[in-house]
Amino acid sequence: MIIKPFNQPAPQLGNQYDDDRVLRSYLRRVLPPDVLAAVEPSLREMGELAGGELYQLQLADRLNVPVLTQWDAWGERIDHIEVTAVWKRAERLAAEFGIVGAAYEPDYGRFARPYQFALAYLFHPSTDVYTCPLAMTDGAARTLLLSGNRELIDRAVPRLTSRDPAQFWTSGQWMTESTGGSDVGLSETVAVLDRAENWRLHGRKWFTSATTSQMALTLGRPESNKPGGRGLAMFYLELRDEDGRLNHITINRLKDKLGTRKVPTAELMLDGTPAVPVRELGNGVRNIIPMLHLTRTWNSVMATATMRRGIALARDYARRREAFGAPLSRQPLHIDTLAGLQAETEAAFHLSFYLVELIGRDETGAITSEEADLLRLLTSIAKLTTGRQAVAVASEVLEAHGGAGYIEDTGLPLLMRDSQVMPIWEGTTNVLSLDTLRAIAHDPAGPVALQRKVSAAAQSTTDPALAEAGRVAMEAVSGVLHWLSERADDRSALEAGARRFAMTLGRVLALALLVEQAQWSLDHERDGRARAAAVRFARTPINMSAAAGVSDDVGLANDEPLPVG
Ligand SMILES: Cc1cc2nc3c(=O)[nH]c(=O)nc-3n(C[C@H](O)[C@H](O)[C@H](O)COP(=O)(O)OP(=O)(O)OC[C@H]3O[C@@H](n4cnc5c(N)ncnc54)[C@H](O)[C@@H]3O)c2cc1C
Repeated sequence: MIIKPFNQPAPQLGNQYDDDRVLRSYLRRVLPPDVLAAVEPSLREMGELAGGELYQLQLADRLNVPVLTQWDAWGERIDHIEVTAVWKRAERLAAEFGIVGAAYEPDYGRFARPYQFALAYLFHPSTDVYTCPLAMTDGAARTLLLSGNRELIDRAVPRLTSRDPAQFWTSGQWMTESTGGSDVGLSETVAVLDRAENWRLHGRKWFTSATTSQMALTLGRPESNKPGGRGLAMFYLELRDEDGRLNHITINRLKDKLGTRKVPTAELMLDGTPAVPVRELGNGVRNIIPMLHLTRTWNSVMATATMRRGIALARDYARRREAFGAPLSRQPLHIDTLAGLQAETEAAFHLSFYLVELIGRDETGAITSEEADLLRLLTSIAKLTTGRQAVAVASEVLEAHGGAGYIEDTGLPLLMRDSQVMPIWEGTTNVLSLDTLRAIAHDPAGPVALQRKVSAAAQSTTDPALAEAGRVAMEAVSGVLHWLSERADDRSALEAGARRFAMTLGRVLALALLVEQAQWSLDHERDGRARAAAVRFARTPINMSAAAGVSDDVGLANDEPLPVG
C-alpha cells in the first residue's frame, strides 16, 4: 500500500494593492478623489505584479547572486558585475512606473510623494531590494536640485527621473570608509587637482551598494583641507567613461552579506577618479544631508513594506495550516500573535507615510512652520523606529510559519535577512538617536510640534476606545519630554537614554497617527479594523524612556568589577 503523505499548501499572495486594507484606506483619506482615481490603475497594476509575476520570479531566482568578473579572457581588467534576473526586470519596471520619476513630475503636486512611495512600497518586497539604488537615485536627484549646480542638474536629473529605461540612470551614495560609516569625518579619500585643474579622487570606499549605477555622490577631502567632517566636500562622479570603461575605479570584491544578497555591495578603489564638486570645497557632510533624508525615508517605507509582506504570508498560512483540529487562524494564541504583528505594521505604516506626506508638502511649499519643525526630527525617528520593528516582525513571521519559516526554499528566511539591514545602513539606531538629541538641542521646536500633533490626534476622537488610546499617547509624550527636561544638563545620562527616548517619540507619534486614521476609518468606512490596531498598539510599551543606571552600566557593558552594597 502506498500512503500519500500530507502536503501543506504554501502561503499565497493576491494582488498586493487590492489586498492591502491599510494602504487603500490611507490613500482614500489623504488623496483627493480625482488624484486617487488617476493613480489607482498603476497601483493596482503594481500590486498585481508584486503578488504575481515578480514574486514568482523572485522565488525562482532565489539562489542567484550578482557576479563580479574582474578580468576578461585576454587579461584586460573589466570589473563587470552581472546582476540577477529580478534586478534586470526591476530596473525596467522602476523606470516605466516612474518609481523615482513620479515624485518629480508636476501632475499631483504635494500628493506626488505619497503616490510615489505607495508604488515603491508595493514594489519593494518582490524585487530583492532593488529599492536600494532607487532610494539613492531619488536622494541624488533631490540633492542636485537643491545644490543649484545647473550643469550637473541638466546633465543628471533628467536621467535620474526618466521613465524611459534606455535613459534611466541610478545613483550610488558612497560615504562609508573602513574608518567609519557613522563617523564619516574620519574619511581618508583625498581630492587632488590635476594639471588641467580637474578634481580627481584617491581612496577606498568600503561599502558601495548599487555599484552598477551610472553615477554617485561621494565625499572626499580636498588636499589642503583640515581633518573632520567640515573638511570633506561632496563630489559628483560618473562611473564609466565614454567607452564604457570604469573611470579609474577598480572593484576589489563584492561583500559576502547576511542579507540584501542581490544588491551588489562592493569595496572600491578610487585611483584618480574624475569628480566634480557639487557645491563648495567643504561642508560635504552637511551638503549630502538631503540625500540622507530621502534614503532614510525610503528605509522607513521599505521596512514597513517588508513587515506587510510578512504579515500577508503569515495570515494566509494561518488560514491554510491546521493544528489540533482547527486552522491556526482560529486559535486564540495564534490570533493574538498575528494581531500584534498587524498592529506594529499599521503603526509603522502611518509613521512612514506621514513622513512622506510632510516631504511632499515641504517640496511644494505647502508645509506649515510647525510641520517643518516636526519634519526635521521625523526622518531619524521614523527610520530608527521602523527599522527595529521590521526585525522584530520578520522574526515573528518566520516563527508563525513554524519549521517552514526556517527553510530557504519557502522564500521566508529572506524576510528576516533583508530586514536586519534596515537598522544598520543609512545610520544605525544609536547614531540616529544621537542625531535626534542633537536636532532637539539645535532647535527645541521639534518636540513641541510633535506633542501638538499627538494632542490634536488624541483630541479629535469621538470613539471611547480611541479616546483611551489617545490618552495613552498624550501621557507618553509628556512623560518622555519630562524625562528630557530633567536630564538637560547631564550629557552622559541623555546619551545613554537616547535610543529609548527617540524610540518613544517614534512609537508615540505612530500611535497618534493610528488613532487619527482609525477615527477616520470609523466615520467614513464604517470599518473597525484600524481602531483595533490602535487599541492593540496602545497596549504595547510606548514610553520606553525609563532612566538607565548609567554608572553601573559601564561595569555591566564592559564586564568590569562593580562595587557591592
Ligand atoms: C548591506 C550594506 C550596504 C551598505 N551600502 C552602503 C552604501 O551604499 N554607501 C555607504 O556609504 N554605506 C553603505 N553601508 C554602510 C553603512 O551605512 C554603515 O555600515 C553604517 O552606517 C554603520 O557604520 P559602520 O559600519 O562604520 O559602524 P560603526 O560606526 O563602527 O558602528 C558600530 C556600532 O557602534 C554604534 N555607535 C557608533 N557611534 C556611536 C556613538 N557615538 N554612541 C553610541 N553608539 C555608537 C553603532 O550604532 C553601531 O552599533 C552599507 C552597509 C551595509 C550593511
